[in-house]
Amino acid sequence: MKRTKIIDIFNPELVGSTVEVMGWVRTRRGNKHVQFVALNDGSTIKNIQIVFDMERFSDDELRAITTGAAIHVTGKLVESMGKGQSVEIQAEKLKVFGTADPETYPLQKKGHTLEFLREKAHLRPRTNTFGAILRVRSTLAYAIHRFFQERGFFYLNTPLITASDCEGAGAMFQVTTLDLNNLPRTEDGKVDFSADFFGKPTALTVSGQLEGELGATALGAIYTFGPTFRAENSNTPRHLSEFWMIEPEMAFYDITDNMDLAEDFIKYCVNYALDHCRDDIDFLSQMYDKDLVDRLKFVVEHDFVRLTYTEGVEILRNSGKKFEFPVDWGTDLQSEHERYLVEEHFKRPVILTDYPKEIKAFYMKQNDDGRTVRAMDVLFPQIGEIIGGSEREADYDKLLTRIEELGIPMKDMWWYLDTRRYGSVPHAGFGLGFERLVLFVTGMTNIRDVIPFPRTPNNAEF
Ligand code: ATP
Ligand code: MN
Repeated sequence: MKRTKIIDIFNPELVGSTVEVMGWVRTRRGNKHVQFVALNDGSTIKNIQIVFDMERFSDDELRAITTGAAIHVTGKLVESMGKGQSVEIQAEKLKVFGTADPETYPLQKKGHTLEFLREKAHLRPRTNTFGAILRVRSTLAYAIHRFFQERGFFYLNTPLITASDCEGAGAMFQVTTLDLNNLPRTEDGKVDFSADFFGKPTALTVSGQLEGELGATALGAIYTFGPTFRAENSNTPRHLSEFWMIEPEMAFYDITDNMDLAEDFIKYCVNYALDHCRDDIDFLSQMYDKDLVDRLKFVVEHDFVRLTYTEGVEILRNSGKKFEFPVDWGTDLQSEHERYLVEEHFKRPVILTDYPKEIKAFYMKQNDDGRTVRAMDVLFPQIGEIIGGSEREADYDKLLTRIEELGIPMKDMWWYLDTRRYGSVPHAGFGLGFERLVLFVTGMTNIRDVIPFPRTPNNAEF
């Protein structure tokens, strides 16, 4: 196949040669002498202009070239006289792969709303906006692997189906093969899970962290990067029921090492996207958010502010600002509080540490004050929380006491406690929600627009 991808066609060395391109028609316009087609093949935000000289082609041949049709064009690449493009193709041969009926094809040329496109999630990757978002998403995924692999971290695959209901990060989706209309019962009337596929209740994971710790305390440093499921009924622009999470976990790291890694990591990813997706980011910036590029550069160039939860609460209480939810030491911060600290007070990303132990998970390292744990949340402009992490409790007795206080069943925990029983080490880690990073880098405002097929309450289409 002699096909040239459109991303490669703007190479000046190709001017004058015969090229073959394949793609989907974005628009066609012109008159009875000449017709212009904008063709896109998904490799780049840029279209290539194809010029059809109507002495060479018949009206009949061109009738099939409507928005959405897939075609194969052979022709000469020449410098373009028109404005808006450097080169164009003078068509010599045309083959139509597949037509797109203008009466029914939903993506006509005018800009559609993001809401409309969510209803057409099966076709929206063919729009400029979603093409750009999906290319940025793919590039960020690659940057994530690069970042960790360059630093000697190992990619660990933790299970998606889990039998422990104590991961502690949120409500779970049950996994079962039992017939829900005809459930087997035990003598006391409860569902008999011994008859279920795994012989016990199972669910989709809400976090790979606990297994990640097993990896870190063997390989030294690992990261996970996989799907995560939360059955919370929170219909917000920042929550999905199925999202992708990156969870690095490192032996011999304390909370400061953990913060340094998180900050380097985000900066690396944002910078990588700026270097490798500039056309797409510029397009999104132009269409949706004029400040996007400046905001991305700002994050890369400035230190994140680090302070404790207690200091953060002080600032919020002294801010004189009326919040919807009151701020009290001991309660979890709401998105409005996080965004105030980041966007109005410090005007840069913030890492909050040392949260009250009651609002954080059982495995976090307990501070000597008896009230706080060595947690860290990274808070971002527009997004709020983008990372949650902590130094882990490495002391067997302290961890066991906390597990008992919270009434977590031992049958779920013995294997986890073994990491503290045998060769326990200081260690730390965090979780980054991949879609929240993609949100930040693309400047989109709804998380449903940065994953190809979003799953949210009452929505599992496509
Ligand atoms: P939030 O307070 O925003 O609901 P969380 O505290 O429940 O988040 P963690 O359990 O700390 O989140 O998960 C680690 C990271 O995963 C978060 O910092 C966030 O980036 C991401 N995340 C958590 N829940 C979701 C979700 N439902 N959809 C998308 N990303 C999520
Ligand atoms: Mn969190």
